[in-house]
Amino acid sequence: MPNVSTEAVAPNPHLAQYEAKGLKGRILSGVQPTGNLHLGNYLGAIRNFARLQNDYECLYCVVDMHAITVWQDPKALAAQTREIAAAFLAAGVDGDKHAVFNQSMVPEHAQLAWIFNCVARLGWMNRMTQFKEKAGKDRENVSLGLYAYPALMAADILIYKATHVPVGEDQKQHLELTRDIAIKFNNDFGVPDFFPITEPLIFGAATRVMSLRDGTKKMSKSDPSDYSRINLTDDADAIAQKIRRAKTDPHPMPETASDAEKRPDADNLLGIYAALADMEKDAVIFEFAGKQFSEFKSALTDLAVTKLGPVGAEMQRLMKDPGHVDRVLHAGAEKARAIAAPILADVYRTVGFLNP
Ligand code: ATP
Ligand code: MG
Repeated sequence: MPNVSTEAVAPNPHLAQYEAKGLKGRILSGVQPTGNLHLGNYLGAIRNFARLQNDYECLYCVVDMHAITVWQDPKALAAQTREIAAAFLAAGVDGDKHAVFNQSMVPEHAQLAWIFNCVARLGWMNRMTQFKEKAGKDRENVSLGLYAYPALMAADILIYKATHVPVGEDQKQHLELTRDIAIKFNNDFGVPDFFPITEPLIFGAATRVMSLRDGTKKMSKSDPSDYSRINLTDDADAIAQKIRRAKTDPHPMPETASDAEKRPDADNLLGIYAALADMEKDAVIFEFAGKQFSEFKSALTDLAVTKLGPVGAEMQRLMKDPGHVDRVLHAGAEKARAIAAPILADVYRTVGFLNP
């Protein structure tokens, strides 16, 4: 796998059991059913889910409990949960071989999260930039769940003792918190190595896709402007229109990587092109150096339509068959619970919860 960036960690005693099966570890990752699934989610996370599935045992989760940290219309939430599951499958995740499920169907996530609320320190939570960004100026009025979100995320991962988590760059800080929680739990309760020190898998040419309207802001499901993102369900016309309108600057295309870095809107489009084409960004810069943006944008449109069209079409097909999606989710939840339940039982014993 090219460009895999993982953080250096001490030898992980949890890996041996997977190595014995010819695998590199166990993966957990999730996506919120908050609507508007976009190119950033695809390139930063979902596409990588499929690419990792032959090397890892995988659990891929639609994190509906995270979604309700901000208000969600209940009917829309159910439909969006199926949509994200459909996206996992459309991107090539094998729902028979791996566990694809929604978080609320596995109550062990919430049970472990409470314990982690009691392990994590307020000082740690106060440093989380996602909370600051999402709460904005309305801090007094956001849900307690939004604040506790990273402790639930740590539970999502550690309830399976997952060793690796593929995510976009924006989730790096939450993964560091997950490691801190694991270390503190292991120390506080005198159970060295009980929870693994999870490694992030952040790789590819587009680990942080930026808004098409503002190259300094992350592309996000919750951005009010639909022109800020390419949705996975956009048709060819919508993709073409959004790329045509994407913000650029008045100069020709950058000639070098250092030139591109100073021009965030151009840099973002180059990164998207590189990721979709499976090329190095430097090679894309070389190919389009000094050309007009219009020429590049037209090539990017063709590429995006070719690469995303089949994924979007397969998602639409699966969304017309909710029975199938529900069966996958149900079977996935059973597989997930079979792993989570004994780990939670160990945690309860460790913490001293009586189970007469
Ligand atoms: P929200 O705005 O509701 O938080 P989101 O777009 O950030 O939505 P999430 O469900 O929070 O989506 O994240 C799902 C996955 O997509 C995570 O692994 C996250 O790191 C990744 N991701 C989200 N946005 C981007 C982006 N712009 N570029 C690359 N990866 C991204
Ligand atoms: Mg997010």
